[in-house]
Order: sequence, then structure tokens, then C-alpha cells
Amino acid sequence: MARIGVLIEARGGEVKKTTLGALTAARRDPEGEVYALLPEPNAEACHGVLRQYGADRIVAIRTPEADISLFPDVQAAALAAAIDRFQLDALLGVSGQAGRDLLARIASIAGAPLVLDCLDIDFPSGTVRKSHFSGKTTATLRLNGRPWILGIRPNIFPEKIDPRPCDIVLYEAPVPTLKRLVIREVKQGSSGGPDVSEAEIIISGGRAVGSAENFRILKECASVLGAAVGASRAAVDAGFASHALQVGQTGKTVSPRLYIACGISGSVQHFAGMKTAKVIVAVNNDPDAPIFQKCDYGLLGDLFEVVPALTRALGLTQAK
Ligand code: FAD
Repeated sequence: MARIGVLIEARGGEVKKTTLGALTAARRDPEGEVYALLPEPNAEACHGVLRQYGADRIVAIRTPEADISLFPDVQAAALAAAIDRFQLDALLGVSGQAGRDLLARIASIAGAPLVLDCLDIDFPSGTVRKSHFSGKTTATLRLNGRPWILGIRPNIFPEKIDPRPCDIVLYEAPVPTLKRLVIREVKQGSSGGPDVSEAEIIISGGRAVGSAENFRILKECASVLGAAVGASRAAVDAGFASHALQVGQTGKTVSPRLYIACGISGSVQHFAGMKTAKVIVAVNNDPDAPIFQKCDYGLLGDLFEVVPALTRALGLTQAK
């Protein structure tokens, strides 16, 4: 039976939703035993949700550090040691900003094959499919050697409830005393709203939004929809939105249920970050905009008319 570890991202006992999708991905191995590796102190608080979403066992990793997340190389060493201790065949994490950094460090310590941005995993054949060249192609890769270290594209596997009798094991990890990197301060981004990489619905604005002040119309629509606000790089470079909102090749990768692109032309670099959205809606006033070739629904019109009208219509629907 394969033992599959899942790197759990949690804060203060709250597990990130994208992490639950990684648990669901791990459960795709019918023979697999799923170990949730939790490098944070609130294992008890996370137990209910991890058990509910398919963890067979929680490994609560302890180190002498009160907050291990401040020491990336210590955290990676502790996780690599846990993989070794529990003889895991694979470690799955989320290919978000934190996961990419940590998984690469773990693979380097473990001398293991690493694949990020995975779209699919076939456990029996030992192959994974991943996005390539900004999403223009996909590649199927065979993994030689173990453990496999895999970063899954956020929201590619919708989380599924699959309750298990799940125990918690405490693991005191031996870690290096040398801390080569220390995170001194983490500042909350100025974006305010929900994280785009976690969101189920995103409404994004492009260059055509015209100013930071105009992003207000997207925020109003987002609050009615329960959505996060995203942005194209052109909007971010122009200072209309913070980089935390940027979707695309050099921004965040998202896979929401619904992506509404307003005043975004549909460059290949933007698509690289959102092409796996289940439904794409484009609002654009140019009938020849490339995004109309790639969306599910296109609204030809001025975003300054369409978006407020959408907000009003949705608000009315909710009020009924
Ligand atoms: P534009 O291309 O200028 O499009 C604006 C659109 O708004 C047009 O289609 C126009 O018809 C429409 N419009 C104008 N007025 C209105 C109106 N009133 N109502 C409705 N529609 C209107 N881009 C990203 O987004 N994310 C990335 O991560 C990213 N990474 C990159 C990495 C590299 C290496 C490079 C070279 C580029 C990258 N880019 C990225 C930039 C990308 O190539 C595009 O330049 C960018 O996506 C364009 O942003 P946009 O669609 O907002 O602007």
C-alpha cells in the first residue's frame, strides 16, 4: 500500500481550502494511506476537517521553534525528515506561492523528483500531467525514484468529503541548528479582500478599468457575488491594483468555478493563470478581442455599464 503525504497549509487551526483539494487528490490512489503533514501547533483544531476530507493520519510536526513557518529551511528539513520517518511514497502540496517554495526545498533535501503545477496524477502508472509553456501545452511526465514531490495547481481537484477514522501522531523532528533564512516580518497585502488563489468566483479587471478608484465597481460586484477581485498585469503595472491580485504567468494561478474578465484582452500570459476556470465570462467592448475566442460567455459592451448592471441585477436576485 502506498503512503501518500499531504502538506497541510493552515493558520491558527484553520486549514486552507486548496489544501483540502490536495487531500482529495491523494485519495485518488485507491490503495493509498493518506498522511496529513501538519507543521503548525494546532493539530487538534485541524483534526475535524482533515478527518472529514480523507486523512487517515495526522502527523503533527514539532520542532524547538514556536513558529516554524518563519524558518523556511528548518520547515523543509522537518518535513523531509517526516517523509523519511513515515516512509512516504509521495508528498502532495498546493502549487501556490508558499507551496512552490517549500516543495522545492523538500525535494532538494530528499533528492526526490519534483513536479509543480500538476493537473492530474495517475498513481498506478506513476505519471503526472502538468501545465507547460504558460499553459500552451501540457506534458505527461513519468516519475523515477521516490518519494514523489508534487505541487498541485490550486482548485484543480475540488475537495470531496470522505470521512476516515483519523488519529494524530506527534513527531519531534530533528532539524538543523543553522537557520540560513529567517522571515522577519509578514505584511498583509493591501488588497484587503479574499485571496484569489482560494476563491471560487473571481471578477478581474484589466487596463480598461482605468484607475484604482474605478476598481470600486468590481469590488461592489464581488461583494454581491461573494467573489474575490483579480487583475491583469497591465492593471497592476499601472498601479490600479496590488500585485497580490495579479492573475497570470507572473501572478497567481487560479481555478475558480467562475471567472469574469472585465476589460481584459486575453493575452496568453493572462490565460496561463486562469485557463482552468470552469466557466469564463468576458466583458469587452471590442468584438475582435482575443478573449472572445476563449471564453464560455462573452458580453460585448462597456464594462462601466455592464458591471454595475450586473451588480444591480444580482443584488435584486439576492433580495428576493
Ligand atoms: P490590454 O491588452 O490593453 O486589454 C484591454 C482590453 O480592454 C482590450 O481588449 C479592450 O478592448 C478592452 N476595453 C477597453 N475599454 C473597455 C471598456 N470600457 N469596457 C470593456 N472593455 C474595454 N499579463 C497578465 O495579465 N498576467 C501575467 O501574469 C502576465 N505575465 C506576463 C509575463 C511576461 C513575461 C510578459 C511578456 C507579459 C505578461 N503579461 C501578463 C502581460 C500580457 O502580455 C498583457 O500585456 C496583459 O495581460 C494585458 O492586460 P489587459 O488585458 O488588461 O490590457
